[in-house]
Amino acid sequence: MSKKKPTSIELRFFERDQHDRTRRWLGATNLDTIRQSTVLMVGAGAVGNEVCKNLGLLGVGKIILVDPDKVAASNLNRCVFFRPGDHDIKFKVEAVAERLPELATTTVVEPHAVPIQHAPDTVWDVDLVIVGVDNHYARYLLNAKNLSLDPPRLIINGAMGKDHISVEVLGPPHTACMICSWSKDFVDHVVANEVRTQCDPFFVDTVPRFPMVSFVTSIVGAVMAWEATRVLVGLQQWQNTGQWQQGLEPAFGRFIQYNLSNHQASTGPIMPNPRCSETFCRDKRKHL
Ligand SMILES: [Zn+2]
Repeated sequence: MSKKKPTSIELRFFERDQHDRTRRWLGATNLDTIRQSTVLMVGAGAVGNEVCKNLGLLGVGKIILVDPDKVAASNLNRCVFFRPGDHDIKFKVEAVAERLPELATTTVVEPHAVPIQHAPDTVWDVDLVIVGVDNHYARYLLNAKNLSLDPPRLIINGAMGKDHISVEVLGPPHTACMICSWSKDFVDHVVANEVRTQCDPFFVDTVPRFPMVSFVTSIVGAVMAWEATRVLVGLQQWQNTGQWQQGLEPAFGRFIQYNLSNHQASTGPIMPNPRCSETFCRDKRKHL
């Protein structure tokens, strides 16, 4: 029998496996669950780019990506999947769908270049919804749509300011919904503001733009992807038993905030509002 000395490549077979380090980190069963998962990502801007990058590298099976906008030159300071030359030509969802598979060979991206309220119902046929939109009206609409589903999907909602980020992990009606903390006046303002925007395009062009750099979106995208990971690996068990996977419990029903200016991180519960402006939220909580 030949006693050929193994080559270094044969000895290090695991170096050929893209998911080797993730499998060591999550365990083989959890990685299989991740690879069979489907996620709806609403928003393909800076946050959407970061979350798609993280979930693609993790090995998530399918990402349904919804965003109506084209790439703008001002996006190019913070979006890994956009390139100079894309702006005003490519839709954001097209750019991500084209380039994510260069990194994440096993992740399928299904792009929809429409507002979430115009996307087909099939986009909601997912394990988890991740929200990275830049306006309250889109949050308001998708929260209402989600709560009309039976059962509503779990949601990870990310937001940020110049020097802070905030992430919420929600599963209404078991937790607060996305607008439980909004006052009636604020809801009226959001809806009226949208009507005004649609009637007067000048208004959109004169809205002040947010200051933003890539490392702020990296932080929010990392926290969102980490919470998504813990939700996805534990979702089936939670649906069956009400318990999350031990050691991988997501911040369910909680917010996570991080302030870059002083490195303070905080977390706490988000209380459901019995007088929430969303009728579905109030009604479904009554039947828990
Ligand atoms: Zn609510």
